[in-house]
Amino acid sequence: MNTPPISGLDPCVHCGFCLQACPTYLATGDESDSPRGRIVLMRSLARGSLSTTEPTLAFHLDRCLGCLACEPVCPSDVRYGTALEATRALIAQSRPVPLVARMVNAVMADRRLRRPLLGLARLVRPVAGVLAGQSRLGFAFGMLRATENGQRWGKQGQKTEKASLPAPSASSAPSALLFTGCIMEGLFSHVHEATHRTLSANGYRSTRVPHQGCCGALHAHTGEHDKAVDLARRNVAAFADCPESVIAVNSAGCGAMLKEYGRLLAGDPLEPEAVALSQRVRDVSQLLASRETRRGHTLALKVAYDPPCHLLHAQRIADAPRALLASIPGIEMVQHRDAAMCCGSAGSYSLTQVGLSRTVLEDKVNALIAADPDVVATGNPGCIMQIGAGLAAVGSSIPVVHPIEILDWSYAMAGFYDE
Ligand code: SF4
Ligand code: SF4
Repeated sequence: MNTPPISGLDPCVHCGFCLQACPTYLATGDESDSPRGRIVLMRSLARGSLSTTEPTLAFHLDRCLGCLACEPVCPSDVRYGTALEATRALIAQSRPVPLVARMVNAVMADRRLRRPLLGLARLVRPVAGVLAGQSRLGFAFGMLRATENGQRWGKQGQKTEKASLPAPSASSAPSALLFTGCIMEGLFSHVHEATHRTLSANGYRSTRVPHQGCCGALHAHTGEHDKAVDLARRNVAAFADCPESVIAVNSAGCGAMLKEYGRLLAGDPLEPEAVALSQRVRDVSQLLASRETRRGHTLALKVAYDPPCHLLHAQRIADAPRALLASIPGIEMVQHRDAAMCCGSAGSYSLTQVGLSRTVLEDKVNALIAADPDVVATGNPGCIMQIGAGLAAVGSSIPVVHPIEILDWSYAMAGFYDE
C-alpha cells in the first residue's frame, strides 16, 4: 500500500487554543484525546520514536472524530486533517482497519453490493420508526428512519403536494452536474430530486453524469488510502467529459473530499484533472447563494440549522446554508447551543466508537431540544441519520432534513413545479 507522508504538523506550537474546540477532549478530559495530544503522538510516529504498533497511538487516533473543529481555531494553520489521514493509512499497514469500518467501506465502494443492501434497507424503512430506540439496534433503526423523505414533517402536520419535475431549462442556462455519491444515492434519493428541482427552478440545467460513484471519504478517513485513490480516479474520469460545468454536491462529507482530490492524487498521472475537478465543486447551498435565490411559498416553521463539520470546518462554508433557509418566507431561524460542535457521526465512527459517539451526540440532542425547533436542517447524510436517531432515542419527534428539502417544500407549495 502507498501511504502519504505525515505532514502539516510542523507549525504546531502546543499553545492549546484548539483544546476547547475538540469534542473528544471535552468528553474525556484526556490530553491524549485532544488535537495537541494527538499531534504529539503523530509527530513521534513521524520521527520514528513511536511505532505504528504502539497501542496508545491507535487508541487515541481511533477516538478522533476527524471533525476538523481544531483547524479553524488554530493560529498556526496546522493541517491536522491531512496528518490524521496519513497517520491512519500508516497504522492500517500494521493493524487492519476495524471490521465494521471495512464492511461499510466495501459496501459503499461497490455498487453491486450497495444496491441490494440499501434496497433492503429501504424495504425495512417504513417500520424503522416503530423500532427506533436507545439500544444499539434501536439506534440503527432510528438512523434508518431518519433517511425517510422529510415531507412528513413537523408539528403543524403541513404537507407539500407531490412536485412534478420542472420543464428542462433553456440550453443557455448554466449547467450543474449532480454528484450522486453512495448513501445519498441509496437512501437520500429524495434529496437528490429536491436538489434537481430547486436548481432547475433557479435557472440551472441540472444533470447527472454516468459512471460516478462513492467519493472515497470513508476510505480516506479510516486509513484505506489506496481504495480512496481508486475511487477518486473513477470520479475524475467520470466528470472529465463535461469540464465546463460546476459539480453540485449536497453531502458535506463528499464535497470536502472532492475538494481534496488534487491532494489525494498528488503525483498521480491524473493529478491535473483531479485539481481541475476540485475547483469545480460547489456545495448546493454555495451554488444557490451565488445568485439571488428564488423566493417560494411561506412556510411558518422554526428551523434550527446544524452545520455539518465537513461544511463548516473543512470547506469553511458558514453563511450560504443559513442564507438559503433565510430566503424562504416565514422561516424563523432558532439558535441552539454549541451548534458548531460535531454530532458524533463522523462516517463509520458512530459504529466503531459507539460510546464516545453517543456521549458527543447527547450534548447536541439536548441543545436542539432546548431550542425547540419545528425542524432541524443539516446538509450531510451522516449528520441527518445521527441527529435523527439521537432525537428518536429520547422520544422526540422533531424531524431532521436537508436544507434543500425545506426550499423544495416552499417551491412545491408555490406551484413552481406546475409551471
Ligand atoms: S494545533 Fe494549533 S491551536 Fe492546537 S496546540 Fe497546535 S498550534 Fe496550538
Ligand atoms: S478532528 Fe475533531 S475530534 Fe479530532 S482532534 Fe480535531 S477537534 Fe478533536
